[in-house]
Amino acid sequence: MSTPRTLREARSALAAGSTSVLALTRTALEQARSKAHLNIFLELFDESALGKAAEVDAKLASGTAGELAGAIVSLKDNLCYKGHKVSAASKILEGFTSPYSATVVERLLAADAVIIGRTNCDEFAMGSSNENSAYGAVLNPLDTSKVPGGSSGGAASSVAAGICNVALGSDTGGSIRQPASFCGVVGFKPTYGRVSRYGLIAFASSFDQVGPFAHTAEDALSVHKVIAGHDELDNTSSQRALGSGQTTAAPLKVAYYRECVEREGLDPEIKAHMLAQFARLKALGHSVEPIELPMLDHLVPTYYILATAEASSNLARFDGIRYGHRSKEAKGVDDTYRRSRTEGFGPEVKRRILLGTFVLSSGYYDAYYAQGMRVRRLIRENTLKAFDTYDLVMTPTCPSTAFGHGEISDPVTMYLQDIFTVQANLAGVPAVSLPTGTHSNGLPFGTQLMAKPFADERLLALAHELFV
Ligand code: GLN
Repeated sequence: MSTPRTLREARSALAAGSTSVLALTRTALEQARSKAHLNIFLELFDESALGKAAEVDAKLASGTAGELAGAIVSLKDNLCYKGHKVSAASKILEGFTSPYSATVVERLLAADAVIIGRTNCDEFAMGSSNENSAYGAVLNPLDTSKVPGGSSGGAASSVAAGICNVALGSDTGGSIRQPASFCGVVGFKPTYGRVSRYGLIAFASSFDQVGPFAHTAEDALSVHKVIAGHDELDNTSSQRALGSGQTTAAPLKVAYYRECVEREGLDPEIKAHMLAQFARLKALGHSVEPIELPMLDHLVPTYYILATAEASSNLARFDGIRYGHRSKEAKGVDDTYRRSRTEGFGPEVKRRILLGTFVLSSGYYDAYYAQGMRVRRLIRENTLKAFDTYDLVMTPTCPSTAFGHGEISDPVTMYLQDIFTVQANLAGVPAVSLPTGTHSNGLPFGTQLMAKPFADERLLALAHELFV
């Protein structure tokens, strides 16, 4: 037996009595163990998962089960789950047990999902390949010589490997959508403020959002509806009601950025696939038009100035005093900070803290951070303007398919992986990556759709209608 791919399949198997949530959970745990070489899970939560599964079976029998009964879920290792370890894949949080649960975790459990474990990721969600984890790289389940993408590489792989039908990740600059593209699954980043960040270990707080991975946009929508909505524990959480997710039969107005499709460095097969998608949508009666994104080359630098600035301040709390790793050698307060942080953080996290501290320091603040904030406003205005006219904006998710382990060692080349994904985070708009293409190298790649803020439910419903 294997984990049903979709929630619909899981629900019908449960309704037919051909399986139970306990059986599904046991299968998923076995699958995870038999695929341990992929290094997807940092820990499996056997006890709490099997306990929850038995509880959901009892609720199914009495007709009181929640809407995610049958969902087998993994949590990225930066989401807190009460009584469970969480480490952001960093040595600095080794051994730390969370005293509380993230709001998204509370909501998943309340809807009767079973959480089977925590997944590997880039340390503090910083990376595009999952190679920055303190616990080793994740192997792409579709081709183990390739990376699964990052930073939510374990989350994407847990779905792609058929272990889970749903995973939660976090997306600050593309960390849900890029691994979704590399692993051939759906990955969704909600509008900023749509999903509570309470209990998500912060990277860059004005960018971070929690979102789902699944095999279909329909399942991503089911999970989104459960985790989204106002939370008084996150003061950036929106009070707006969720959309209905209804679509209309009217023809859609779709745009694409000329600069993205024509960009040098975009894999020619991905470009050809985009053009074929435009033709297909037109043949369905929708309009597809080119629009301009003159600031394309400024997106990645702006993101890396602002996100590192926020990270340098967020990561100041890991000081060896309050939680996590404390150096055994340390003498005195300053020495404790210095040694604990030197020993606990990996090289990429150190690089980002240094860069972020630099752009915020007096003398450089105006030239970098303040300027980055101004450019961010222009990017947001330009991004939103498109939605005055268009329902959707379409881009490739990534310039290439999954690359090999160790293939990209230069940080700037790695950062350019995010060229098409950071815009949605800079502007705060919802964006989904859909597994629409297969390259002649055998690997999948995604198409990204963006919509206006708070059109999340409609975006996923349209994605399901147009691309499944
Ligand atoms: N790859 C980007 C980075 O390293 C995005 C990370 C993310 O979305 N968490 O910053």
